[in-house]
Amino acid sequence: MKAKNRDCLLIGRFQPFHKGHLQVVKTIARECDDIIIGIGSAQYSHTAENPFTAGERHLMISRALQEEGIGNFFLVPIVDINRYAIWVSHVVSMVPPFSRVYTNNGLTRRLFIEEGYEVSSSPMFNREQYSGTEIRRRIASNDNWEQLVPNAVVSVIKEIDGVSRLMDLAPSQRREVDESGAGIGEDA
Ligand code: ATP
Ligand code: MG
Repeated sequence: MKAKNRDCLLIGRFQPFHKGHLQVVKTIARECDDIIIGIGSAQYSHTAENPFTAGERHLMISRALQEEGIGNFFLVPIVDINRYAIWVSHVVSMVPPFSRVYTNNGLTRRLFIEEGYEVSSSPMFNREQYSGTEIRRRIASNDNWEQLVPNAVVSVIKEIDGVSRLMDLAPSQRREVDESGAGIGEDA
């Protein structure tokens, strides 16, 4: 077992951070001391799958959690290394110590269990709508999306002109589609 603290790690791409993610963070906040949020596939932005930069995602998450009165979190961008066998060490080298990982992704679960971490999953909340893929699709096709993300995230997306960006990145708008290689951050 690793460090005997009650700090927990949540990893995702958060493209964008939505209300399902917020529910998970609230659950973790009840069960853990500090919450470490790893912003995965941090090197990607400006693609249909990964439209927002790590810095923009950082802003979305920090403002959304502030808005909820949650203050005990650390945000750490994590770039993909595309080598699953050493990915956990890579993550560990970037974040404060933690004892438990929250994930609903089978590969992430497997990799952390093999390294001796406690892994918990959380229920999926309204997964048909609280889904990054669904929210990106809606933004790009001018469908209703604002109710699916925290208010702070709506503000950040508007501030950075994210709606136009997603529309421009939509595959139908592009002659050449660049689907970036999925890193470990890809999941359920
Ligand atoms: P995408 O469709 O782009 O993969 P996503 O909604 O799955 O986006 P991720 O950033 O991939 O979001 O997910 C981060 C973590 O949050 C994963 O463990 C994922 O399973 C979990 N998660 C995502 N959506 C929900 C939800 N609605 N309820 C609970 N957990 C969720
Ligand atoms: Mg996912």
